[in-house]
Amino acid sequence: MSAARPGVVYLVGAGPGDPGLMTLRAAELVASADVVLHDRLIPHGALDAARADAELVFVGKRPGAPEMPQEEIERLMAERARSGRSIVRLKGGDPFVFGRGGEEAEALAGAGVPFEVVPGVTAGVAAPAYAGIPVTHRDDASAVAFVTGHEDPAKGDSALDWEALARFPGTLVLYMGVRRMPEIAARLIEAGRDPGEPAAAIERGTTPGQRTVTATLAELPDAVAEAEIRAPAIVLTGPVAARRKTVAWLEQRPLHGRRVVVTRARAQSSGLARALGALGAEVVELPAIRIVPRIDSEEVRDAIQSIHTYALVCLTSPNGAQLLFEALAAAGRDARALANATVAAIGPGTAAALAERGIVADVVPERSIAEALVEALGGLEVEGRPVLVARAAEARDVLPEALRERGANVDVVALYETVAEDADPGVIAAAQGADYVTFTSSSTVKNFVQAVGDRFPDGARIVSIGPVTSDAAREAGLTVNVEAERHDPDGLVEALVADSASTPG
Ligand code: SAH
Repeated sequence: MSAARPGVVYLVGAGPGDPGLMTLRAAELVASADVVLHDRLIPHGALDAARADAELVFVGKRPGAPEMPQEEIERLMAERARSGRSIVRLKGGDPFVFGRGGEEAEALAGAGVPFEVVPGVTAGVAAPAYAGIPVTHRDDASAVAFVTGHEDPAKGDSALDWEALARFPGTLVLYMGVRRMPEIAARLIEAGRDPGEPAAAIERGTTPGQRTVTATLAELPDAVAEAEIRAPAIVLTGPVAARRKTVAWLEQRPLHGRRVVVTRARAQSSGLARALGALGAEVVELPAIRIVPRIDSEEVRDAIQSIHTYALVCLTSPNGAQLLFEALAAAGRDARALANATVAAIGPGTAAALAERGIVADVVPERSIAEALVEALGGLEVEGRPVLVARAAEARDVLPEALRERGANVDVVALYETVAEDADPGVIAAAQGADYVTFTSSSTVKNFVQAVGDRFPDGARIVSIGPVTSDAAREAGLTVNVEAERHDPDGLVEALVADSASTPG
């Protein structure tokens, strides 16, 4: 595996929608390309990892807007490649399955431009899989056909042989077929396909909005119309569709159908968002805060200068741990500067961030809250000894005050500040109808409430990471429905899942 090479065009499949179904190769190429030409149907966040200086060009269809002609896309690719840049042509699903990837490869070959093809997970297999339908099965489908449903079967010059498809001994998977569902079903039945055969339509397969309807082939058009199934959708007909009754799994996940708002800073939200998504939640990331490092300040520089003199160094968040090491690095120092200190950390995430940098924390209280660290440090002699508390600017003073009371010489330095993040109105709209809003700190509460104003998602249950955050929520006028027992992101997820199980959907 290697980065995108200059002068080469990569025809890359991005998979059907679930970002986890992008291949490693696709992710690597997107992250390294100079230019990414992309369609509309690519996974949410697929371009997040692109280089900040990469040129991102949308070349797909947009409802109501003229689409870029195919020749223009081909010309663009060739021209950019000839100027020595690396190009990723990112397409939904697989580039060679109804994706015009074949035509683009031919055009590049004709123009003498070097190219490579990266297959993707195609919607016709993936959407059924997420709906609990195996497209082949030893007992009732030994073959599968991928068919375009784009053409009007009533047209005499159709490229499809409907009689052959009707006789096809296996599963028919139709792409682009929902709009013409009535004509397609009628044509297949007229040509001899069993009207009572199990069939299914799957809208937005593998995304949090996936919807599936099943019916007999004869009844599927009505079922599709009634459920208002729209493109993009896969239509499938064949006995395997009946397997969904026992194989359906997506709907069984603990947070299926739950919309959950994550308010953490963007840099930290991904772990929590992923954990919730993996349990089936539809996650809306609406970061309320942003972390602004303050490691250039005089107080931080002074503390780093004399860091080897501290008997105890306390870190209260993963951000703090990371930034302490950045500050050390900026001063040309490393983990050895902490060799003589007792290192204390609040929270397993903070301890993990330290461990990544070679420091195993000496003290990590069971509960991730300042009061618990004070207690855990009870046996440590601090009288007259220098202590460093490195943390966020707006943190509470519980820890430094308790240590001072015990006679320690405490220096408190702010490694970062949390400031309000601008909220995207589109994302605020997506948060309406949320089942849960999660808060992982007091600052996320304050800033979220301010950011959404009177558009706070009505009826959402409030989940807080711990007592301090809960207090902040109550102060902001919210009712806290769930408080995590373990005050870290995993604990929050656990508490949310338990609440969801006992709350009707
Ligand atoms: N190259 C793509 C297909 C492009 S044609 C692939 O391999 O998947 C576009 C059609 O693909 C849509 O009309 C729809 O039928 C299907 N499709 C794409 N993404 C889909 C999804 N997430 N769920 C259901 N169908 C999808």
